[in-house]
Amino acid sequence: MPGILYLVATPIGNLEDITLRALRILKEADLVAAEDTRHSSKLFRHFGIETPLTSFFEHNEAEKGEQLLTALREGRAVALISDAGTPAIADPGFILVRRCREEGIPVIAVPGPSAVITALSSSGLPTDRFAFEGFLPSRPAARRKILNALAGESRTLIFYETPHRLLSALRDMSEIFGEERLVAVARELTKLHEELFLGTAGEALEHFGKDKIRGEIVLLAAPAPPTKPTGSVRDALRKWKRETELPMRDIVKQVAREYGVPGSEVYRESLAIKEDEEKSGNTQGRTSKEENSP
Ligand code: SAM
Repeated sequence: MPGILYLVATPIGNLEDITLRALRILKEADLVAAEDTRHSSKLFRHFGIETPLTSFFEHNEAEKGEQLLTALREGRAVALISDAGTPAIADPGFILVRRCREEGIPVIAVPGPSAVITALSSSGLPTDRFAFEGFLPSRPAARRKILNALAGESRTLIFYETPHRLLSALRDMSEIFGEERLVAVARELTKLHEELFLGTAGEALEHFGKDKIRGEIVLLAAPAPPTKPTGSVRDALRKWKRETELPMRDIVKQVAREYGVPGSEVYRESLAIKEDEEKSGNTQGRTSKEENSP
């Protein structure tokens, strides 16, 4: 029987955030693979964990991954942790997880803190749809290229950032997304000097430009404001109907959202279109009243 690879999340600052399950798995595993064994020894000492630690970091991922796979094939339980947060999220782990999946070795996530979710949930920016972009490139040209490509993004954007690059990133965002775009900066989450700033890109530049910036940072940007639609609601309904296979109730919802008008108003317009079509004998198969309802 193969062993099990556990992906164990550890605190991103406050040690009280470790879960009971994480503690049990870390104590019961045969081996714990850690990004930085010296760093994780402190966590182990704090919680009285005595499981052997082995290093597993970006630059030995391929070679060390093979050794871990051997242990797993022999039936051992291996727990993977990173310095902080959830392993494999902007941290090593993905390749090992993929190899385990390919070989039928069970992979079990033991969830817990992750800076991306902690920052998003407390940011005050929309949480229903978001895109996590990891670290922005350090080279200005590459960073600006990515920000340009993301300028019209309709989801909340989330980046990991370093304190010494925060101002450059904010400057680029302010220029490319506009200084009125809302941004959030989550600094030192769950720690003593935790700070969550929410304001426009221009305000953020002013706020963080005052003092030396310290600590760990997640930078978030609000979705781009929707572009104003042109043409009438009726035209938009006709266009959607022509170009998609969506049922009318979904088209009505979509157009109402696009135009920022009540669904009932768009629904009335859709009925008018239907009447016109029935008069001219062109119903395109959309005859059910039910299908038409929002
Ligand atoms: N795997 C981790 C996770 O699940 O959050 C992320 C690892 S990534 C190498 C480290 C980055 O996460 C930091 O540079 C910072 O951007 C962010 N981060 C980690 N802890 C944080 C904290 N307490 N407050 C704010 N950001 C944090």
